[in-house]
Amino acid sequence: MSGTPERACIVVDRGALAHNMRTIVAASGRARVMAVVKADGYGHGAVLSADIALANGATDLAVHTVGEAEQLRAAGVGAPILVLGALTGAEWGRAAGVNAEVVVWAPEAVGYADASGVTRIHLKLDSGMGRLGVRIDESAALVDAARVGRGNVAGLMTHFATADDLEGEHAGFFREQLLRFRSAVQRLREIFPDATVHAANSAATFRDPDARFDMVRCGIALYGCSPFHEDPTLRDLRPAMSLVSHLALTKTILSRESVGYGRTWRAERGTQIGLIPVGYADGYSRAYANVAEVLVNGRRVPVIGAVSMDSLTVDLGPESVDRVGDEVVLLGRQGDEMITAEELAAWRHTINYEVTCAMGPRLPRVHVG
Ligand SMILES: *Cc1c(COP(=O)(O)O)cnc(C)c1O
Repeated sequence: MSGTPERACIVVDRGALAHNMRTIVAASGRARVMAVVKADGYGHGAVLSADIALANGATDLAVHTVGEAEQLRAAGVGAPILVLGALTGAEWGRAAGVNAEVVVWAPEAVGYADASGVTRIHLKLDSGMGRLGVRIDESAALVDAARVGRGNVAGLMTHFATADDLEGEHAGFFREQLLRFRSAVQRLREIFPDATVHAANSAATFRDPDARFDMVRCGIALYGCSPFHEDPTLRDLRPAMSLVSHLALTKTILSRESVGYGRTWRAERGTQIGLIPVGYADGYSRAYANVAEVLVNGRRVPVIGAVSMDSLTVDLGPESVDRVGDEVVLLGRQGDEMITAEELAAWRHTINYEVTCAMGPRLPRVHVG
Protein backbone atom coordinates (compact mmCIF):
# COMPACT_ATOMS: atom_id res chain seq x y z
CA MET A 1 0.00 0.00 0.00
CA SER A 2 1.21 3.49 -0.69
CA GLY A 3 1.58 6.05 2.05
CA THR A 4 -0.60 9.11 2.31
CA PRO A 5 0.70 12.24 0.62
CA GLU A 6 0.14 14.04 3.92
CA ARG A 7 1.96 13.55 7.22
CA ALA A 8 -1.41 12.55 8.53
CA CYS A 9 -4.97 13.49 7.71
CA ILE A 10 -8.56 13.08 8.70
CA VAL A 11 -10.49 11.46 5.88
CA VAL A 12 -14.20 12.28 5.94
CA ASP A 13 -16.54 10.04 3.93
CA ARG A 14 -19.31 12.18 2.41
CA GLY A 15 -21.30 9.12 1.39
CA ALA A 16 -21.30 7.89 4.98
CA LEU A 17 -22.62 11.25 6.26
CA ALA A 18 -25.39 11.18 3.65
CA HIS A 19 -26.25 7.58 4.49
CA ASN A 20 -26.38 8.33 8.22
CA MET A 21 -28.64 11.33 7.66
CA ARG A 22 -31.06 9.12 5.73
CA THR A 23 -30.93 6.56 8.57
CA ILE A 24 -31.83 9.33 11.05
CA VAL A 25 -34.69 10.56 8.87
CA ALA A 26 -36.04 7.01 8.68
CA ALA A 27 -35.75 6.68 12.48
CA SER A 28 -37.51 9.98 13.16
CA GLY A 29 -40.98 9.18 11.91
CA ARG A 30 -42.82 12.41 11.15
CA ALA A 31 -40.54 14.61 13.25
CA ARG A 32 -38.27 17.15 11.56
CA VAL A 33 -34.54 16.66 11.95
CA MET A 34 -32.16 19.28 13.31
CA ALA A 35 -28.57 18.29 12.49
CA VAL A 36 -26.18 19.18 15.30
CA VAL A 37 -22.90 20.42 13.81
CA LYS A 38 -21.30 22.05 16.87
CA ALA A 39 -17.58 21.63 17.57
CA ASP A 40 -16.81 21.68 13.84
CA GLY A 41 -19.26 18.89 13.19
CA TYR A 42 -17.78 16.75 16.00
CA GLY A 43 -14.45 17.15 14.21
CA HIS A 44 -15.73 16.24 10.73
CA GLY A 45 -16.13 19.80 9.42
CA ALA A 46 -19.19 21.91 10.24
CA VAL A 47 -19.91 23.27 6.77
CA LEU A 48 -19.47 19.91 5.04
CA SER A 49 -21.64 18.15 7.62
CA ALA A 50 -24.33 20.84 7.45
CA ASP A 51 -24.46 20.80 3.64
CA ILE A 52 -24.76 17.02 3.48
CA ALA A 53 -27.32 16.86 6.30
CA LEU A 54 -29.52 19.50 4.63
CA ALA A 55 -29.25 17.76 1.25
CA ASN A 56 -30.43 14.48 2.82
CA GLY A 57 -33.43 15.50 4.87
CA ALA A 58 -32.42 17.77 7.76
CA THR A 59 -34.36 21.04 7.94
CA ASP A 60 -32.56 22.80 10.79
CA LEU A 61 -29.04 23.09 12.21
CA ALA A 62 -27.69 23.50 15.73
CA VAL A 63 -24.35 24.82 16.96
CA HIS A 64 -23.01 25.77 20.38
CA THR A 65 -21.65 29.29 19.80
CA VAL A 66 -22.55 32.31 17.73
CA GLY A 67 -19.12 32.08 16.11
CA GLU A 68 -20.10 28.67 14.78
CA ALA A 69 -23.35 30.10 13.39
CA GLU A 70 -21.39 32.91 11.71
CA GLN A 71 -19.07 30.36 10.09
CA LEU A 72 -22.04 28.53 8.55
CA ARG A 73 -23.66 31.75 7.31
CA ALA A 74 -20.34 32.91 5.81
CA ALA A 75 -20.25 29.63 3.86
CA GLY A 76 -23.69 30.37 2.43
CA VAL A 77 -25.82 28.14 4.67
CA GLY A 78 -29.35 29.57 4.74
CA ALA A 79 -31.21 27.04 6.90
CA PRO A 80 -32.46 27.93 10.40
CA ILE A 81 -29.62 27.73 12.93
CA LEU A 82 -30.17 27.35 16.67
CA VAL A 83 -27.37 28.38 19.05
CA LEU A 84 -27.58 25.88 21.91
CA GLY A 85 -25.12 27.51 24.32
CA ALA A 86 -25.56 30.24 26.90
CA LEU A 87 -24.89 33.52 25.08
CA THR A 88 -22.88 36.30 26.63
CA GLY A 89 -22.39 40.02 25.95
CA ALA A 90 -21.86 40.84 22.33
CA GLU A 91 -22.96 37.39 21.21
CA TRP A 92 -26.63 38.41 21.45
CA GLY A 93 -26.25 41.13 18.86
CA ARG A 94 -24.09 38.91 16.65
CA ALA A 95 -26.77 36.19 16.82
CA ALA A 96 -29.31 38.71 15.56
CA GLY A 97 -26.84 39.75 12.86
CA VAL A 98 -26.75 36.25 11.34
CA ASN A 99 -30.44 35.57 11.96
CA ALA A 100 -29.69 32.76 14.41
CA GLU A 101 -32.25 31.40 16.84
CA VAL A 102 -31.22 31.27 20.48
CA VAL A 103 -31.95 29.35 23.64
CA VAL A 104 -33.32 31.27 26.64
CA TRP A 105 -33.06 29.83 30.14
CA ALA A 106 -33.94 32.77 32.41
CA PRO A 107 -36.15 35.88 32.27
CA GLU A 108 -33.07 38.09 31.84
CA ALA A 109 -32.08 36.11 28.75
CA VAL A 110 -35.43 36.99 27.17
CA GLY A 111 -34.59 40.64 27.87
CA TYR A 112 -31.17 40.35 26.21
CA ALA A 113 -32.70 38.64 23.19
CA ASP A 114 -35.33 41.39 22.84
CA ALA A 115 -32.83 44.20 23.31
CA SER A 116 -30.48 42.82 20.68
CA GLY A 117 -33.06 42.14 18.02
CA VAL A 118 -33.07 38.32 18.13
CA THR A 119 -36.49 37.35 16.82
CA ARG A 120 -36.79 33.62 17.48
CA ILE A 121 -36.20 32.14 20.93
CA HIS A 122 -36.43 28.59 22.31
CA LEU A 123 -37.41 28.14 25.97
CA LYS A 124 -35.09 25.62 27.58
CA LEU A 125 -36.75 23.62 30.34
CA ASP A 126 -34.65 21.55 32.73
CA SER A 127 -36.56 18.31 33.19
CA GLY A 128 -33.74 16.62 35.10
CA MET A 129 -30.45 17.22 33.30
CA GLY A 130 -29.55 19.80 35.93
CA ARG A 131 -27.63 21.89 33.44
CA LEU A 132 -28.62 24.87 31.24
CA GLY A 133 -32.35 25.53 31.43
CA VAL A 134 -34.96 26.63 33.95
CA ARG A 135 -36.40 24.07 36.37
CA ILE A 136 -39.91 23.24 35.22
CA ASP A 137 -41.28 23.94 38.71
CA GLU A 138 -39.65 27.39 38.62
CA SER A 139 -40.43 28.28 35.02
CA ALA A 140 -43.35 30.70 35.56
CA ALA A 141 -41.22 33.86 35.43
CA LEU A 142 -39.48 32.76 32.23
CA VAL A 143 -42.80 31.91 30.62
CA ASP A 144 -44.24 35.28 31.60
CA ALA A 145 -41.21 37.13 30.24
CA ALA A 146 -41.39 35.22 26.97
CA ARG A 147 -45.10 35.87 26.67
CA VAL A 148 -44.75 39.64 26.91
CA GLY A 149 -41.39 39.81 25.11
CA ARG A 150 -41.07 40.83 21.50
CA GLY A 151 -39.37 37.62 20.40
CA ASN A 152 -41.38 34.86 18.85
CA VAL A 153 -41.25 31.68 20.94
CA ALA A 154 -40.13 29.34 18.19
CA GLY A 155 -39.33 26.37 20.38
CA LEU A 156 -39.93 24.54 23.66
CA MET A 157 -37.08 22.21 24.49
CA THR A 158 -35.40 19.98 27.03
CA HIS A 159 -32.39 17.64 27.06
CA PHE A 160 -32.07 14.07 28.40
CA ALA A 161 -29.35 13.02 30.84
CA THR A 162 -29.53 9.25 30.31
CA ALA A 163 -30.97 8.58 26.85
CA ASP A 164 -27.92 6.43 26.04
CA ASP A 165 -28.42 4.24 29.12
CA LEU A 166 -30.67 1.41 27.93
CA GLU A 167 -30.33 -0.96 30.86
CA GLY A 168 -28.01 0.59 33.44
CA GLU A 169 -28.72 2.05 36.83
CA HIS A 170 -30.38 5.19 35.43
CA ALA A 171 -32.25 3.69 32.50
CA GLY A 172 -35.63 4.59 34.03
CA PHE A 173 -34.73 8.25 34.50
CA PHE A 174 -35.12 8.85 30.76
CA ARG A 175 -38.83 8.06 31.00
CA GLU A 176 -39.19 10.22 34.10
CA GLN A 177 -37.74 13.24 32.27
CA LEU A 178 -39.91 12.52 29.26
CA LEU A 179 -43.08 12.51 31.36
CA ARG A 180 -42.12 15.73 33.18
CA PHE A 181 -41.41 17.50 29.90
CA ARG A 182 -44.55 16.15 28.28
CA SER A 183 -46.82 17.50 30.98
CA ALA A 184 -45.10 20.90 30.88
CA VAL A 185 -45.51 20.99 27.10
CA GLN A 186 -49.22 20.24 27.36
CA ARG A 187 -49.66 23.51 29.29
CA LEU A 188 -47.20 25.60 27.28
CA ARG A 189 -48.48 24.61 23.85
CA GLU A 190 -51.64 26.57 24.63
CA ILE A 191 -49.63 29.69 25.42
CA PHE A 192 -47.17 29.27 22.53
CA PRO A 193 -49.11 27.44 19.80
CA ASP A 194 -46.47 28.06 17.10
CA ALA A 195 -43.56 26.60 19.07
CA THR A 196 -41.67 23.59 17.75
CA VAL A 197 -41.30 21.06 20.58
CA HIS A 198 -37.96 19.24 20.67
CA ALA A 199 -36.14 17.04 23.16
CA ALA A 200 -34.44 14.03 21.57
CA ASN A 201 -30.72 13.66 20.92
CA SER A 202 -29.56 10.74 18.76
CA ALA A 203 -30.01 8.12 21.49
CA ALA A 204 -33.53 9.27 22.35
CA THR A 205 -34.46 9.40 18.66
CA PHE A 206 -33.54 5.75 18.15
CA ARG A 207 -34.83 4.65 21.51
CA ASP A 208 -38.34 5.98 21.93
CA PRO A 209 -40.87 7.36 19.41
CA ASP A 210 -42.55 9.28 22.28
CA ALA A 211 -39.42 11.42 22.66
CA ARG A 212 -39.47 12.77 19.10
CA PHE A 213 -42.21 15.42 19.45
CA ASP A 214 -42.03 17.89 16.49
CA MET A 215 -38.28 17.73 15.90
CA VAL A 216 -35.23 15.68 16.92
CA ARG A 217 -31.70 17.03 17.44
CA CYS A 218 -29.14 14.54 16.18
CA GLY A 219 -25.37 14.85 16.29
CA ILE A 220 -23.41 11.68 16.99
CA ALA A 221 -25.50 9.44 14.70
CA LEU A 222 -24.90 11.77 11.74
CA TYR A 223 -21.21 11.03 12.08
CA GLY A 224 -21.78 7.28 12.10
CA CYS A 225 -20.94 6.73 15.75
CA SER A 226 -23.19 4.72 18.03
CA PRO A 227 -25.29 6.73 20.51
CA PHE A 228 -25.27 3.59 22.67
CA HIS A 229 -21.49 2.99 22.69
CA GLU A 230 -21.88 -0.22 20.69
CA ASP A 231 -21.17 -1.32 17.10
CA PRO A 232 -22.65 1.51 14.95
CA THR A 233 -23.69 -0.90 12.18
CA LEU A 234 -26.35 -2.30 14.55
CA ARG A 235 -28.29 0.96 13.92
CA ASP A 236 -27.38 1.15 10.24
CA LEU A 237 -24.78 3.87 10.86
CA ARG A 238 -21.48 4.12 8.98
CA PRO A 239 -18.44 5.75 10.63
CA ALA A 240 -17.56 8.82 8.56
CA MET A 241 -14.13 9.65 10.01
CA SER A 242 -10.76 7.97 9.52
CA LEU A 243 -7.35 9.04 10.79
CA VAL A 244 -4.66 7.99 8.32
CA SER A 245 -0.90 8.43 8.49
CA HIS A 246 2.18 6.45 7.48
CA LEU A 247 5.31 4.81 8.83
CA ALA A 248 7.88 7.59 8.92
CA LEU A 249 10.62 5.28 10.21
CA THR A 250 11.20 1.65 11.09
CA LYS A 251 14.07 0.54 13.28
CA THR A 252 15.53 -2.29 15.28
CA ILE A 253 15.14 -2.38 19.05
CA LEU A 254 17.09 -5.00 20.97
CA SER A 255 15.78 -7.01 23.87
CA ARG A 256 15.59 -4.92 27.10
CA GLU A 257 15.93 -1.60 25.26
CA SER A 258 13.24 1.00 25.89
CA VAL A 259 11.22 3.28 23.62
CA GLY A 260 9.98 6.79 24.33
CA TYR A 261 9.71 9.27 27.19
CA GLY A 262 9.87 7.79 30.65
CA ARG A 263 10.89 4.35 29.34
CA THR A 264 7.31 3.12 29.84
CA TRP A 265 7.89 0.22 27.43
CA ARG A 266 10.83 -2.14 27.14
CA ALA A 267 11.35 -4.82 24.54
CA GLU A 268 10.99 -8.38 25.82
CA ARG A 269 12.64 -9.58 22.61
CA GLY A 270 14.41 -7.97 19.72
CA THR A 271 11.85 -6.39 17.39
CA GLN A 272 11.12 -3.80 14.74
CA ILE A 273 9.30 -0.67 15.80
CA GLY A 274 7.58 1.93 13.66
CA LEU A 275 7.34 5.68 14.17
CA ILE A 276 4.07 7.38 13.24
CA PRO A 277 4.17 11.18 13.07
CA VAL A 278 0.92 11.75 15.01
CA GLY A 279 0.72 12.72 18.65
CA TYR A 280 -1.39 14.24 21.36
CA ALA A 281 -1.16 17.66 19.70
CA ASP A 282 -3.28 16.10 16.95
CA GLY A 283 -5.79 14.73 19.46
CA TYR A 284 -4.29 11.24 19.72
CA SER A 285 -4.30 11.11 23.51
CA ARG A 286 -1.39 10.17 25.75
CA ALA A 287 -3.84 7.79 27.39
CA TYR A 288 -3.52 5.48 24.35
CA ALA A 289 0.08 4.63 25.34
CA ASN A 290 0.66 0.89 25.75
CA VAL A 291 -3.04 0.09 25.25
CA ALA A 292 -4.28 1.14 21.80
CA GLU A 293 -3.66 -0.55 18.45
CA VAL A 294 -3.25 0.79 14.91
CA LEU A 295 -3.56 -0.91 11.52
CA VAL A 296 -0.49 -1.51 9.37
CA ASN A 297 -0.71 -3.59 6.22
CA GLY A 298 -4.05 -5.02 7.29
CA ARG A 299 -3.04 -6.16 10.78
CA ARG A 300 -3.33 -4.75 14.28
CA VAL A 301 -0.13 -3.66 15.97
CA PRO A 302 0.17 -2.26 19.51
CA VAL A 303 1.03 1.33 20.42
CA ILE A 304 4.07 1.06 22.67
CA GLY A 305 5.83 3.61 24.84
CA ALA A 306 4.55 7.09 25.59
CA VAL A 307 2.51 9.00 23.02
CA SER A 308 4.47 12.20 22.42
CA MET A 309 3.18 15.57 21.26
CA ASP A 310 3.99 14.83 17.63
CA SER A 311 4.66 11.11 17.36
CA LEU A 312 3.88 7.67 18.61
CA THR A 313 5.57 4.30 18.27
CA VAL A 314 4.26 0.82 17.51
CA ASP A 315 5.71 -2.66 17.83
CA LEU A 316 5.73 -4.12 14.33
CA GLY A 317 7.14 -7.44 15.57
CA PRO A 318 10.42 -9.28 14.85
CA GLU A 319 9.15 -10.64 11.54
CA SER A 320 8.04 -7.24 10.20
CA VAL A 321 8.52 -6.52 6.53
CA ASP A 322 6.68 -3.20 6.82
CA ARG A 323 8.36 -0.34 5.01
CA VAL A 324 8.73 3.38 5.47
CA GLY A 325 5.79 5.06 3.76
CA ASP A 326 3.35 2.23 4.38
CA GLU A 327 -0.13 3.47 5.29
CA VAL A 328 -1.13 3.46 8.97
CA VAL A 329 -4.78 3.71 10.00
CA LEU A 330 -5.33 4.92 13.55
CA LEU A 331 -9.12 5.22 13.21
CA GLY A 332 -11.11 3.58 10.45
CA ARG A 333 -10.82 0.63 8.11
CA GLN A 334 -7.80 -1.00 6.45
CA GLY A 335 -8.38 -4.25 4.59
CA ASP A 336 -10.60 -6.47 6.72
CA GLU A 337 -9.68 -4.76 9.97
CA MET A 338 -11.36 -1.72 11.48
CA ILE A 339 -10.73 0.47 14.50
CA THR A 340 -13.86 2.34 15.53
CA ALA A 341 -14.27 5.49 17.61
CA GLU A 342 -16.06 3.27 20.13
CA GLU A 343 -12.97 1.06 20.44
CA LEU A 344 -10.63 4.05 20.80
CA ALA A 345 -13.01 5.47 23.41
CA ALA A 346 -12.91 2.27 25.46
CA TRP A 347 -9.09 2.25 25.38
CA ARG A 348 -8.94 5.61 27.07
CA HIS A 349 -12.10 5.41 29.19
CA THR A 350 -14.08 8.05 27.37
CA ILE A 351 -16.91 8.17 24.82
CA ASN A 352 -16.83 8.17 21.02
CA TYR A 353 -17.85 11.86 20.99
CA GLU A 354 -14.59 12.89 22.61
CA VAL A 355 -12.54 10.75 20.23
CA THR A 356 -13.75 12.53 17.08
CA CYS A 357 -14.01 16.01 18.65
CA ALA A 358 -10.42 15.75 19.86
CA MET A 359 -8.96 15.44 16.36
CA GLY A 360 -7.01 18.66 16.10
CA PRO A 361 -6.98 21.43 13.50
CA ARG A 362 -3.40 20.52 12.54
CA LEU A 363 -4.79 17.46 10.73
CA PRO A 364 -5.98 18.43 7.26
CA ARG A 365 -9.47 17.23 6.37
CA VAL A 366 -9.68 15.27 3.13
CA HIS A 367 -13.11 14.47 1.69
CA VAL A 368 -13.90 11.25 -0.13
CA GLY A 369 -17.04 9.49 -1.38
C1 LIG B 1 -25.00 18.18 21.47
C2 LIG B 1 -26.46 18.25 21.69
C3 LIG B 1 -27.33 17.41 20.98
C4 LIG B 1 -26.86 16.30 20.07
O1 LIG B 1 -26.63 15.13 20.84
P1 LIG B 1 -26.16 13.75 20.17
O2 LIG B 1 -26.10 12.83 21.32
O3 LIG B 1 -24.82 14.01 19.58
O4 LIG B 1 -27.17 13.37 19.16
C5 LIG B 1 -28.70 17.60 21.17
N1 LIG B 1 -29.16 18.56 21.99
C6 LIG B 1 -28.33 19.37 22.71
C7 LIG B 1 -28.90 20.39 23.61
C8 LIG B 1 -26.96 19.23 22.59
O5 LIG B 1 -26.15 20.02 23.31
